[in-house]
Amino acid sequence: MAERITGHTELIGLMADPIRHSSSPAIHNEAFAYLGLDYAYLAFEVNNDGLKDAITGMRALKMPGANLSMPNKSAVIPYLDKLSPAAELCGAVNTIVNQDGVLTGHITDGVGYMEALRDNGIDVIGKKMTIVGSGGAATAIQVQAALDGVAELSIFNMRDRFWENAKATIDKIAERTSCKVTLYDLADLDRLKAEIEDSCLFTNATGVGMKPLEGQTYIPDASFFRKDLIVTDVIYSPAETAMLKLAREIGCKTMNGMGMLLFQGAAAFQLWTGKEMPIAHMKKVLGISYEAAKGEGH
Ligand code: NAD
Repeated sequence: MAERITGHTELIGLMADPIRHSSSPAIHNEAFAYLGLDYAYLAFEVNNDGLKDAITGMRALKMPGANLSMPNKSAVIPYLDKLSPAAELCGAVNTIVNQDGVLTGHITDGVGYMEALRDNGIDVIGKKMTIVGSGGAATAIQVQAALDGVAELSIFNMRDRFWENAKATIDKIAERTSCKVTLYDLADLDRLKAEIEDSCLFTNATGVGMKPLEGQTYIPDASFFRKDLIVTDVIYSPAETAMLKLAREIGCKTMNGMGMLLFQGAAAFQLWTGKEMPIAHMKKVLGISYEAAKGEGH
């Protein structure tokens, strides 16, 4: 790795806190090396206190791009020059592109999810999906699904601090896209069952199923799923949540969050370099196998 750094090598940075656990440096540096691209990707422990200076530094160093994660995804917006339509709708940014000193904020989480579906042979365009969640991951998926042409979205959330965000998201989607979008209370399990019955795909976009809620699901029993329903989860650790296990046992096609993670990175990579991330190579080298969580028999 070190011998490929030269006086021409350009720096891409990830700004988040906590950050040391991130797999993004390994993913991007492997892809740069594989394609012989002269970039290096480093993680920087930056929170809201240092964010303004970090973005000023990014401009001064003429860094071609950056990634952002919590707690910086919304806080960075005032320091940028432009936003992509999806980033504007989400009110969040996970990727910055620096083009001749103009910093544009993008959100690639939703693109990553939709691309993972396509990569898995799942087509939801023109169809209805039901999704639980209205935090960062859920909002990105909902906005991108609507922008990509999903016909109808039923969104469920508990009446917690994210409820207002869910209301704002449905207003924006209704105003800016032709997707029919409705918000329901997750406590209304009869409605949840009815909306899932009417959908081709159901997804969990909350942390229910991973630590500290590992082993849990708000799906009460197997009667909520049917064999031809596609069931996905944004969680990738564990690779199979309790909800995905329930779905797989019924015979549903399932997909975990590993593809979303890989393809959100691939979308950022393409924005910076103009090149496609070598997906097959990355899956092999990094041991990424969301296919392992597909329903058996598919
Ligand atoms: P967030 O904190 O922004 O949102 C949390 C959401 O979970 C809210 O909608 C909240 O109402 C809901 N929630 C919390 N406790 C709940 C409960 N007990 N029952 C039902 N709903 C509950 O979080 P986020 O950043 O959107 O992350 C959510 C999940 O998505 C996490 O598991 C995270 O690891 C995962 N994620 C995956 C990817 C990926 O690339 N695969 C990317 C981002 C996030």
